[in-house]
Amino acid sequence: MEIITKDLLINFLFILLPLLLLQMFYLLKFVYRIEKMKENLFTVLSLFSIFLCMLFPFPVGDGLIWDLRRIPFVIGVLYGGPKNGFLLLIFVIVTRYFMLGVNDGFYITIITFTLLAVTVSFVSRYYLKMTLEQKVLTSSSLVLLSTIITFIVVSLFFNVIVSVNMWLQFFFITFLGTVIVTLLIEVIRINSDLLEKLMKAEKLEVVSHLAASISHEVRNPLTTCKGFLQLSYDEERSPEIKQYLGTALQELDRASDIINDYLTFAKPVPDKVEKVFVNEAVQNVLNILTPLANMQDVQIFYHPDQSGHANISGDRKKLEQSLINIVKNGIESMQKGGKLEIYTVAEYPKVRIAISDEGKGMTQQQINRLGEPYFTMKDNGTGLGMMVSFSLIKGMGGEIHVESELGNFTIFTIEFPMVT
Ligand code: ADP
Ligand code: MG
Repeated sequence: MEIITKDLLINFLFILLPLLLLQMFYLLKFVYRIEKMKENLFTVLSLFSIFLCMLFPFPVGDGLIWDLRRIPFVIGVLYGGPKNGFLLLIFVIVTRYFMLGVNDGFYITIITFTLLAVTVSFVSRYYLKMTLEQKVLTSSSLVLLSTIITFIVVSLFFNVIVSVNMWLQFFFITFLGTVIVTLLIEVIRINSDLLEKLMKAEKLEVVSHLAASISHEVRNPLTTCKGFLQLSYDEERSPEIKQYLGTALQELDRASDIINDYLTFAKPVPDKVEKVFVNEAVQNVLNILTPLANMQDVQIFYHPDQSGHANISGDRKKLEQSLINIVKNGIESMQKGGKLEIYTVAEYPKVRIAISDEGKGMTQQQINRLGEPYFTMKDNGTGLGMMVSFSLIKGMGGEIHVESELGNFTIFTIEFPMVT
């Protein structure tokens, strides 16, 4: 009985090595905030791994070599998409040609890997949305399937005799290898996601503590000032002084309004829970923002839900505050004017608010950073608007999805649980 497992395990090492590098790159990317790396990274690493596998194969005889290249191949296409698939296919065929020239094994490679590339490219469209179990199942069955096809092609059309025992070892190692590699990649991805979230949460916490203390510290003196001004206003005074005092009081009111509006995120849990009629809230927001829209040549189209069920539970003021920030960004993103549409939709058990603009859009990296304190792309932006909106909406049990295309459009979709 021939043992090929040992040789294949060396191959497996060449698959694990790039994974180690992947983890390292993710960390570097994170620490140094390198944004343009993710797409090419997978291609480069899977090429690297395929090349190493092919460099140290296990010769079976008659120009047939075995190695584990189909694992990085399948994984690379699943995570990298069809474009990556085409690239890897060309690479495998060319490398195989230069290594051993044209022989039976070369044709086997062309047939099986073309089939594999097409199938995996097709599956890759759905792959990233799958659950962990589905991913492991998909990647391992794809690899196994391709091994079986190779087996069939080899035994039907070519004069190569390979013992059953060797095939079984090959199947087993390939299958196990794919499961391990898929799990490792998922762990690495989860880790880097967690790291990102942790960093965001930490920043947010610092800011909200700061904001909470500042707004508290400022609100108290404001109240005191207001009290004394009110007292002297009520006493008999000349009209001129009354006018000054009146203005001062009004300005103090404005100051406390601003604090209330912009610093409410200090407490993510709504303090006043009531039934909120979403259509009304949106209408209020539009009343406030229509002058700004007119100034920027932006037309607003509002399509309120007609069923009468667009009601949620929360704090109306806070909902309005978060919508104002989102709609305002939409208006500001259309420097040359355009159309801003708002839909409210009640679809049991959710109430959805969709806000779309035809503005300058965002890249995926920018979308990921939305809600991070001080993240702004504007010259005089605060980078606080989205953070306020996100934390208020989450505080009321809502979810936010952002879809955007650079230079074309942005759609914010907010979903709340419906109350009846
Ligand atoms: P600010 O508006 O002060 O910059 P925000 O937190 O409100 O801060 O927004 C952060 C950034 O998110 C903006 O600077 C902008 O680049 C981006 N952004 C938010 N909404 C949109 C949108 N609808 N279209 C394009 N970019 C947007
Ligand atoms: Mg803003």
